Parts: sequence; structure tokens; C-alpha cells
Amino acid sequence: MAQEFDKFGDIRLSIRSLCGNFPGEYWRDLDRKKSYPSQFVKAMTESGFLGVLIPEQYGGSGMGISAAAAILEEIHKCGCNAAACHAQMYIMGTILRHGSNSQKSEYLPKIASGELRLQAFGVTEPTSGTDATRIKTTAVRDGDGYIVNGQKVWTSRVEHSDLMLLLARTSPRGEKEKRHEGMSVFLIDIRESVGNGLTIHPISTMINHATTEVFFDDLCVPPDSLVGNEGEGFKYILDGMNAERILIGSECIGDAYWFIEKATNYAKERKVFGRAIGQNQGVQFPIAKAYAATEAAKLMVEKASALFDTGKDCGAEANMAKMLAADSSWEAADMCLQTHGGYGFAEEYDVERKFRETRLYQIAPISTNLILSYIAEHVLGLPRSY
Ligand SMILES: Cc1cc2nc3c(=O)[nH]c(=O)nc-3n(C[C@H](O)[C@H](O)[C@H](O)COP(=O)(O)OP(=O)(O)OC[C@H]3O[C@@H](n4cnc5c(N)ncnc54)[C@H](O)[C@@H]3O)c2cc1C
Repeated sequence: MAQEFDKFGDIRLSIRSLCGNFPGEYWRDLDRKKSYPSQFVKAMTESGFLGVLIPEQYGGSGMGISAAAAILEEIHKCGCNAAACHAQMYIMGTILRHGSNSQKSEYLPKIASGELRLQAFGVTEPTSGTDATRIKTTAVRDGDGYIVNGQKVWTSRVEHSDLMLLLARTSPRGEKEKRHEGMSVFLIDIRESVGNGLTIHPISTMINHATTEVFFDDLCVPPDSLVGNEGEGFKYILDGMNAERILIGSECIGDAYWFIEKATNYAKERKVFGRAIGQNQGVQFPIAKAYAATEAAKLMVEKASALFDTGKDCGAEANMAKMLAADSSWEAADMCLQTHGGYGFAEEYDVERKFRETRLYQIAPISTNLILSYIAEHVLGLPRSY
């Protein structure tokens, strides 16, 4: 695939070399055991790539979202899965944008070096789902600090993280004028909290994702855990979502290229009826279509990244990038499995694993319907539906 004008060519080469140490066999083995890819995450951390968004003054490389997107795309293009560590790149954005100077100087250099892992992000709850304004987890003032009670679900990587960014209610819903007001963001020290009011239950899922349910039972949180102003947390979380959408979109693009390359190679090699299956246009066209869709989606990821990096509003583009990229990776996944016939179901080809992994992006971190609703309402001015 043409990458000749890519200004991140050197970064991509380094990623490819690093990912070469983590072939399909490594991921298959972890998948069977449902184990966390610790070695891969260690290698990514030591390489410094996870600190790419952290400004140089805090020990990162301060390169911006376009570079981060190239890194994640390339990881996925190599058949690896960055979901185990991608959050270390962007969750810190909330501290960078809204944290106090002392929070920034205490945490960011350690996150950049990997000494501290900030991998967990607790927003989703069982009863509120996508409607995060209805979360029920509360943080009630107690002296200078807070007492947290409630439950989160799908809190990923929390067992492999030192810190968690938590969204909790500090005022009851309805007390404030707007529905997104009255929520606050806290930086929770998981190491100190487990066994002292924080309980973690792993959830077994169709992909190897280290995701969990998290229970808060009178967890005492010190006052300096609050990030920014009390009651404004929902806005801070929204601020971070554009970065997340762009970066997840870039992982989808990487997955799509992986499926396309895998299918192309197989279609050239596999002979049925005395000729390569790729000689049949019925096999060629879905591959070509998936390629065209991926190239187009990649342009939207690049547009959103460029806007983000120049500080311009990119809400619409980040949402469209995530949706188009997730659609292109899912189309490519289905095409790749079909091209492989029965062998697509065999673990050793990695197609079924990547197929399961890339399906997630139709749902998380935001489902396709909710993106369409955003475009309809905020871009096209259609009436609000919820
Ligand atoms: C593996 C995994 C990892 C995750 N990791 C994290 C994490 O680290 N931290 C975190 O906070 N969350 C995480 N999530 C949660 C994820 O963001 C949510 O699952 C997602 O936002 C959807 O919420 P829900 O599952 O409650 O679905 P629901 O909100 O119950 O929605 C169910 C379905 O109904 C549709 N729907 C709902 N409302 C509407 C509407 N108004 N119009 C049209 N369609 C609608 C949705 O599109 C969806 O298809 C993770 C989820 C998974 C599966």
C-alpha cells in the first residue's frame, strides 16, 4: 500500500520492527489463556511510543495526534492489538488540559516514562449505558475529601493500571440546570484503593480485552484526586473523546489493511478449480471494495487529526472518522473471512481472532448509532431524538 508521502515513515518502520517480535502465535497463545500482553505492553512502553502525546516539558515527545494515529494504525496493520495499552496515550489528556500544575508535574513525567500506568477509564455503568448523564456512582464530600459509592462496568485494563480516571456524580441529577452538570472527574490510585473500598471483577468476553466490573464501597478519595473544578467533569470527558475517536479510528484502519493484505495474499495462493481463487472477480471485487473504503476512511482520520493538531474544532470529523474506519475494518474483516473459506475459522490463520477483535469497534468506545445521531443533530441540524 502506498505510503510514500507519509511523514511518519521512520516511526512506522520502528513499529514494524518492534511488532515483528510479536507474531500471530504470541497473540493466539494469549487469546487462548485470556492473558494480558504484558511483554508487548512493556516493549511499547520502553520504546516511548505511548508518551507521544505528552508535551516534552513533561518527558513525552509532544508529537501530536497525527503521529499517535500513525503508531496505532501501524501496530494493527502488523496484526498486533494496541487495545491493551492505547489508553496510556490519551487518558492523560484530561490531566494535561484540566489538571492543576502540581497534578501535571507529579503524574505526567511518570506516565511518560511508564513508571505509572494510567490505562483505566471508568465512565460506563450497568444501568446508564451510553447515556452517561445518568450515571449513579457518587462522590460525596467528606471533610476535605470524598467518599465514592457505586459501580462501573467495562472498565478495561484496571488490573494492569496504577491509576484510573473516574467520572462520578458530585450533585444529584436534576439539581443543576443542565443534565451534564454535577459530575466530576477523579484520579484514583488503584494500588491504594483495592481492598479499601474498591473491588474488581474480570468479565470474560469474546475477545481478550482485560475488561472488568468495578465496585466502589465507601472508597475514601483524598481532595487532591479531583481533576479541575467540581461539577464540570462531564465536559472534561467530552473534551477527551475526539482524541479517542481519532485514535480508535486509526486502529480500525490498521486492522482493515491487515485483512486486505491477508485476503489478497491468500487469494493469489489458494487454487480451486485449477486456478487461483483471486482470478475470480467474485473474489477480487470485495477485496478491491474494502481497499477503496479503507483509503477513504483513512482520509477522514487524517482530516480529523490535522484539525485536532492545529487546535481546531473536529467533533464532526472525529466522529465520522471513527464510524467510517470501524465500518471499513468490519467490511474488510467479513471479506477476509469469506476469502479464506473454511480456513478463515481456523485459529492458525489469525483471521477469526482479528475478526472478533475488530467487531468491538461497532460498539465501543461509542456505537455507530450514537455517531449517526451526533451527525444528524449537530452537523445537519435535525431534531434532537433523545
Ligand atoms: C470490550 C469493551 C471494553 C470497554 N471499555 C470501556 C472502558 O474502558 N471504559 C468505559 O467507561 N467503557 C468501556 N466500554 C463501554 C462502551 O463504551 C459501551 O459498551 C458503549 O458505549 C455502549 O454502551 P452499552 O454497552 O451500555 O450499550 P447501550 O447504551 O445499552 O446501547 C445498546 C444498543 O442500543 C443502541 N442505542 C442506545 N440508545 C440509542 C439511541 N438513542 N438511538 C439509537 N440507538 C441507541 C446502541 O447503539 C447499542 O447498539 C467497553 C465496552 C466493551 C464491550
